[in-house]
Amino acid sequence: MTADKHTKRAARELAAREGISYTAARRRLADQGPADEALDEPPRLYPIVTTPCTHGCDGTPHPGYVCETWHPFNNRGNPLTSWATCQAASLPGRRAISLADRFQEKPQYGYSQDQSWVLAAVYAMLLDEEPETVPDPHRLRAAVEADDIAAVDALMQPLDLAAVRLLGAPIEEWHTTGFPRLRAWATRVTTTEPDEPAWDMALIEYNSRCLKLAERFLKSQEERRNYNGYMETEPVSWWFSVPFLTEMLRQTRGGHPLGTRVRLTDGRPALVYGLEWGQAGPPVAYRVRELVPGKYGNEGKLVPKLGGDGETVPAEECLLLD
Ligand SMILES: [Zn+2]
Repeated sequence: MTADKHTKRAARELAAREGISYTAARRRLADQGPADEALDEPPRLYPIVTTPCTHGCDGTPHPGYVCETWHPFNNRGNPLTSWATCQAASLPGRRAISLADRFQEKPQYGYSQDQSWVLAAVYAMLLDEEPETVPDPHRLRAAVEADDIAAVDALMQPLDLAAVRLLGAPIEEWHTTGFPRLRAWATRVTTTEPDEPAWDMALIEYNSRCLKLAERFLKSQEERRNYNGYMETEPVSWWFSVPFLTEMLRQTRGGHPLGTRVRLTDGRPALVYGLEWGQAGPPVAYRVRELVPGKYGNEGKLVPKLGGDGETVPAEECLLLD
């Protein structure tokens, strides 16, 4: 992948320099074979510190040694930290899997396809584009070393809120804003060379995970022939992680669970299918769908009204259906 990117870049540069086409530049580079660059100086080994550095270390506390960035699974400060806490603190992908493990309702029968990579990709994009969602590194390390998974979740809350607002938005909004934004991020990550190569293992691993997520996203958008011979893109459930993200927020901040039957102030019964969060406290509003008496083989039952997107009502106007 990297070698290929280097070749592409070299070809682009050659094409621009010589005023020839990109294809011609690729051919000329291929004819030349690999360039043998003379090494100016022999490679040098640098020792790495044995205890992960504090965040923002500039190397002064350990002259002659290279820094090592702390990350949750590299928690030598407290070997008793549980795996679950490390997993919940590891961004982007492992936290998504951790939340699904802890808060996803287990399917009654069959199995549900795991699509937590979508949440992981959204995490990676948010951490990249919205610095205010990045958890404080000092407090995150303290929470992991204290093996306090609730504190980890609390530190991640701005990130989780941003993710659930994006993924749980009404479908129209997702297709006009959220999805194009994710596609733009994935395209940028896969086509842009980093300014300088990373040497820090934690950073290299993080970047390669983000690259994989971006590639996974772009691959899901390629049309492929299905078993019936038709071209189609992979069916991705963008909403997959919304129920368990909502459930996690709800357990600490309160509110009605998804699927609750409520009565609106005008007396109509309704079904909760979305929660809208403010900065703190319980949900400020609910997205609901009106419940109407069933007519076709479900007489005597209240069923969600078909058609439309339902409605958004303030939280105080949603009372539990008695
Ligand atoms: Zn250091």
